[in-house]
Amino acid sequence: MEEEIKGYTMQEAISEARRCLNCPKPMCRTGCPIENDIPAFNHAVSLGNFGEARSIIAQRSNLPAICGRVCPHENQCEGHCVLSKAGKGIKIGMIERFIADFDTEMNLNREKKIEKIGGKVAVIGSGPAGLTVAGDLARKGYEVVVYEGESEPGGVLLYGIPEFRLPKDVVRNTTKKIADLGVQFVTNTMIGTDITVDELFKNGFDAIFIGTGTALAKSLDIPGGDLRGIIQSNYLLRMVRLYQDGNVDKSEVPIEEGDNVVVIGAGNVAMDACRTAIRMKAKSVTVAYRKTVEFMRAAKAEYDGAISDGVDFKWEHAPIEYVGENGIVTGLKCQSPNGEVILPANKILIAIGSRPAARIVSSTEGIDVDEGGYVVTKQKPYGMTTRRGIFAGGDVVHKPATVVLAMREAKKVAVGISEFLEAKKLLGE
Ligand SMILES: Cc1cc2nc3c(=O)[nH]c(=O)nc-3n(C[C@H](O)[C@H](O)[C@H](O)COP(=O)(O)OP(=O)(O)OC[C@H]3O[C@@H](n4cnc5c(N)ncnc54)[C@H](O)[C@@H]3O)c2cc1C
Ligand code: SF4
Repeated sequence: MEEEIKGYTMQEAISEARRCLNCPKPMCRTGCPIENDIPAFNHAVSLGNFGEARSIIAQRSNLPAICGRVCPHENQCEGHCVLSKAGKGIKIGMIERFIADFDTEMNLNREKKIEKIGGKVAVIGSGPAGLTVAGDLARKGYEVVVYEGESEPGGVLLYGIPEFRLPKDVVRNTTKKIADLGVQFVTNTMIGTDITVDELFKNGFDAIFIGTGTALAKSLDIPGGDLRGIIQSNYLLRMVRLYQDGNVDKSEVPIEEGDNVVVIGAGNVAMDACRTAIRMKAKSVTVAYRKTVEFMRAAKAEYDGAISDGVDFKWEHAPIEYVGENGIVTGLKCQSPNGEVILPANKILIAIGSRPAARIVSSTEGIDVDEGGYVVTKQKPYGMTTRRGIFAGGDVVHKPATVVLAMREAKKVAVGISEFLEAKKLLGE
């Protein structure tokens, strides 16, 4: 699965950046959750000064190649650009992506040697939240070790978002740049199972950050749930990734050529699942969503992509039963504006959200969670849990959202961790 949207050439990036008006009150920057200095990097690109553009972005973001590709730009920076009112908004995501990819290709990385200032932090999870905390704290001079349960760092960026939207090499190059800041990655290590949080403290860490996301996929409580052919979308995306890496046989991918697939849900995961099913040569793919199109949570670009892939959308179709024969699913019964209907399918993909696993909180004293299992954190120091020295951020705190929102929170938590570590030093702890 090749990357679907091609990046800018150098000339295209310069031409697009030259259209920027360098507004005195740049609305694009207000629209960016991490307040990237967009006019400044546009200006640098317009002059062909890509190294300068890279340094400007690095002040706010550790993941520009990823944000440039998967952020919902139409609601954020690009949607706020003054030129977007006339339908001519600057393609900020494409420029950001160009700068990051050019940096990787030309190895523009000129990080100054970072002096260590004392203080050791364990980061649990290497998704956008963990990578952001790790990068920001390493830049400040703290020693950072990232623990990841999977065999490679990246989180959902690697095992969720498919290759045609976010190539694996882009994620690998990004984690390499963070490792180049001095961050150590320990993979295949599940905290709470392989090592406990208390053992991490005993091993000399001064603070711990939990950025473990929401790994448990939600199910629908309707009759017929035990029929064969009902699959979690996250499982499909993960198996396709493993198949593409040569780690599993194609027969283990749960969608086959000729399948008739119904996808339940209309968020980004649902769009990725239905577009992946098409690429695995499913015969038909239909999305069933209980509300109208206005309530769809998927980014518009993803929805447009699904439409052009040939996905059929059934709005106001609320699932009420999985129907089947001989233990195998044959369709999804829905309540629709026209009464009860059955959408025929031999595979049904569920994409109705996810919630945090309890692996860490159940093996650690003193970390409070709310009724949904989300970790409770404080405002001061920002992101600290109910247990001193343990911080949390990203989806495990704020519910499944977007890459850049996980990053925004993680940036604030990195400041909270730094304040905590400096206070510890002052107290001589
Ligand atoms: C299929 C899919 C498509 C998406 N598409 C988009 C998109 O287009 N744009 C967008 O902005 N957002 C998208 N999102 C949402 C976005 O990816 C998430 O909001 C973001 O990844 C959350 O970051 P995080 O760091 O909090 O958690 P995650 O990315 O989930 O990372 C958590 C990491 O912690 C690790 N971990 C968990 N428990 C442990 C443990 N006990 N010990 C060690 N490691 C552990 C996990 O293996 C994982 O690597 C998508 C999500 C999915 C699932
Ligand atoms: S709002 Fe648009 S035109 Fe103005 S500075 Fe930002 S990108 Fe440039």
